[in-house]
Amino acid sequence: MGPTMDAVSPFAPRTLCFYGVRVWLLMLWVWALPWAHAGQNPAGDVVNVQLRWHHQFQFAGYYAALEKGFYRDEGLTVRLHAGAPDRQPVDEVLAGRAQYAEGNSEVLLQRLLGKPLVAMAAIFQHSPSVLLVRRDSGIASPHDLIGKKVMLMNGVGDADFISMLQNEGVAPHRLTVLPSSFNFDDLLTGKVDAFNSYLTNEPYYLQQKGIDYTVINPRNYRVDFYSDILFTSENELRNNPARVEAMRRATLKGWRYAMDHPAEIIDLLLNKYQVEKTRAHLEFEANAVRELILPDLVEIGHMNQGRWEHMAQTFLKAGMVQAGFSLDGFMMDSAPQPLPSWVLPALMGALGVSVMALGAVWWVYRVNRQLVVADNELRAVNQALQASLSENMGLQSLLQEKAIRDALTGLYNRRYLDEMLERELARAKREGYPLSVAMLDLDHFKAVNDTYGHLAGDEVLKNLARYLQASAREGDISCRFGGEEFVMVLPGLTVADACRRLEQWRTDFAGAVTRHGTLEIRVTMSIGLAVFPDHAASVEGLLQCADKALYRAKNAGRNRLEVGA
Ligand code: GH3
Ligand code: MG
Ligand code: MG
Repeated sequence: MGPTMDAVSPFAPRTLCFYGVRVWLLMLWVWALPWAHAGQNPAGDVVNVQLRWHHQFQFAGYYAALEKGFYRDEGLTVRLHAGAPDRQPVDEVLAGRAQYAEGNSEVLLQRLLGKPLVAMAAIFQHSPSVLLVRRDSGIASPHDLIGKKVMLMNGVGDADFISMLQNEGVAPHRLTVLPSSFNFDDLLTGKVDAFNSYLTNEPYYLQQKGIDYTVINPRNYRVDFYSDILFTSENELRNNPARVEAMRRATLKGWRYAMDHPAEIIDLLLNKYQVEKTRAHLEFEANAVRELILPDLVEIGHMNQGRWEHMAQTFLKAGMVQAGFSLDGFMMDSAPQPLPSWVLPALMGALGVSVMALGAVWWVYRVNRQLVVADNELRAVNQALQASLSENMGLQSLLQEKAIRDALTGLYNRRYLDEMLERELARAKREGYPLSVAMLDLDHFKAVNDTYGHLAGDEVLKNLARYLQASAREGDISCRFGGEEFVMVLPGLTVADACRRLEQWRTDFAGAVTRHGTLEIRVTMSIGLAVFPDHAASVEGLLQCADKALYRAKNAGRNRLEVGA
């Protein structure tokens, strides 16, 4: 009989609640897992490290870290495993049998093929993997390998060699590529022409036997791979980030120690790891390893995104990976490295110099500002001075002007006439033209004042002044001589011309009306004229002559012009 809906329905409210709590707890656990592990170094757990091959100096840094207690200091219990044909680093890490391993470019290749591997440090800055050929084979370059038997460790799967051939325009199929027998005697006996070797190892055998050899190194043909890469899995990095950091720190410390104390590591290898190599071979290896790690030039373990890109492109060119790959997440983000000892003093020095430079700049800026302010103030003072000067000048000229002008009519006053008449006469004499001096006097003006009032009389005076000014030519001078008497100085006119103009004025003015309020005032004037050189040759003479003529005009009945003495 089947279960009833009520008993087991996964949709029943209580069951839903039960599942919900369990799912929530599971999610909480999954979320908290990395955090729970992140802060601790599982000292009790054994950390397995897979090496690429048999124990030898190639892995010196790991032995040093173990022996010198660098792993222990980080709370790590490390076990090193020698490599073998059936114990390959990538496989061991992917299977979880080792958390860490040292591998060559295969680490990147497998990552590009989708394996969750993470590079922690590139111990060898250049790959030791080369082809060795006997010198007597006559082979000296990749070209010479055409038609020859070449033993490669991974057959046509060795991207560095395939790319080297491609870079040199040699199609790989033109070589007879054989998988490695791992038996170096095959080269010595001539069974193969080229043998895939490690610079750190096989050349030693040839040197021992006194066999001349040639190294064909991909690095000389634009293929430059990192090698002996410390790596782990994405899983380990996610679950034990602190352990990954600790592992890298301790391993690199071990490598620095090994580079500083190669003999000690060689002793260790001979005594504790029972390596098959002789001391001399290990010393050869130590020197070769040093040339690939370059500890004096490069921070041990240094990785560069560009170099990884170069390697990935090499794989692409060899047709071993598809285009469109990404290296994101492959290179473990570097923890901040302790700065070299010289950096801090240098930074402090630079800071000091910068502060001093800034201070100098600030001082110059302030001085400059003060100068600018002072300059502005000076300009302002100068402007004010100039303003006051021009104001003064204006005032002065105003005063000067006032001194020579008649207040009521605005015509020149007598004082000015005296001065000006001297100049004009001198000039007329110098330049030889006539100068007329006409004296005008209003007729019966006293009666105007008496009849219409003084203000009305003023209005008549102003009216005559306006008329005289309006009628004057350029060069004529209109002047109020005093009271109701005016003098006109007319240069350049003959007696006849002067008479014509003065008659015109007299008649015009006689016909004119001065309005003051409702008043319409008509006034006439009498004129006496004296002309240089006809009637007099001095200012006084001219004025007296004009005055006499005026007198005659008055006596002759007014509103008329009289000329000369
Ligand atoms: P005439 O010249 O025709 O012989 O007679 P007059 O009445 O003009 O004679 P006089 O020269 O003796 O008088 C001048 C008068 O002009 C005297 C004075 O009242 C008047 N006068 C002088 N200066 C001013 C002035 O500035 N304003 C006014 N309203 N009158 C003035
Ligand atoms: Mg008068
Ligand atoms: Mg008068």
